Amino acid sequence: MKSDYVDLHCHSTASDGTLSPTEVARLAADCDLSALALTDHDTIAGVAEAAAAARELGIDFLPGIEISCEYPHPGTMHLLGYGVDVNSPVLTELTTTLVAGRDNRNPKIIARLQELNVSITMEEVENEAGGNVVGRPHIAAILLRKGYVKTTKDAFNKYLAPGGSAYFDKERLTARQAVGMVLESGGLPVLAHPVQLKTGNDAELDRVVKDLVDLGLAGIEVIHSDHDGALVAKYTALAGKYNLLTTGGSDFHGGNKHNIELGVANGRRIPRRFYDALMEKRSHAPAR
Ligand code: AMP
Ligand code: FE
Ligand code: FE
Ligand code: ZN
Repeated sequence: MKSDYVDLHCHSTASDGTLSPTEVARLAADCDLSALALTDHDTIAGVAEAAAAARELGIDFLPGIEISCEYPHPGTMHLLGYGVDVNSPVLTELTTTLVAGRDNRNPKIIARLQELNVSITMEEVENEAGGNVVGRPHIAAILLRKGYVKTTKDAFNKYLAPGGSAYFDKERLTARQAVGMVLESGGLPVLAHPVQLKTGNDAELDRVVKDLVDLGLAGIEVIHSDHDGALVAKYTALAGKYNLLTTGGSDFHGGNKHNIELGVANGRRIPRRFYDALMEKRSHAPAR
């Protein structure tokens, strides 16, 4: 019998996770999940491999991507795109733009670290990443290995996060661009982990979501490792108010986020019906 649980938010070595797409799919099977969505930052490079592994293992699979958007507040806005057509030219344009934003930023971080007498090169960082999406967690892993910091968190606090001594932001798409491109790629745009928006109050959160809904938002990630029960309830109510799908995932990154297990988000599992509803909505999307 199919398990009642899934995970719709996780990362592989194609971005800043530490398990390969095949290993993530295997772990999903070992955890008795019946469906998996891979949502690497800014790339679908891992999707084909994960899809093949999932098929082999008898798990349902949904291609996904996670995009960082411009957001003029202290928090961050991430958009998930589910069920994108991997052959869509718009998707290729999207991922090329996103990776270019990183390619502009990463050398600035490395140059600043060198000025701070940290021994690190862009080549080392690229080797650490092993692919086209080079993220701050790869830099953090090197700082950790070389003993400049004791934990990944320290690496972010001291150097890589806003306020850190080697922080640089990357160019981002606006929410309008990101939502539009996900839709044009045949995908469903979903607001990731709304707690990270750091909205000051519920009215502000409502306004941000309403604006996204006007752009074509399809869902809200209600279950996430950063959400406690009260937040899950709040975001579920908000999804109901705007007639949005609810989704959920662990945001598993393998060893880059040690405290997160695949299939479990802050003690909660993610119900299969979230996956089924995404599939249902996707099949009703207009053909493009
Ligand atoms: P980037 O995509 O290169 O901008 O890096 C963002 C990624 O770094 C996030 O998706 C997380 O995986 C990780 N990250 C961001 N902030 C922190 C933090 N304070 N501690 C640990 N990991 C973080
Ligand atoms: Fe990440
Ligand atoms: Fe995210
Ligand atoms: Zn994520």
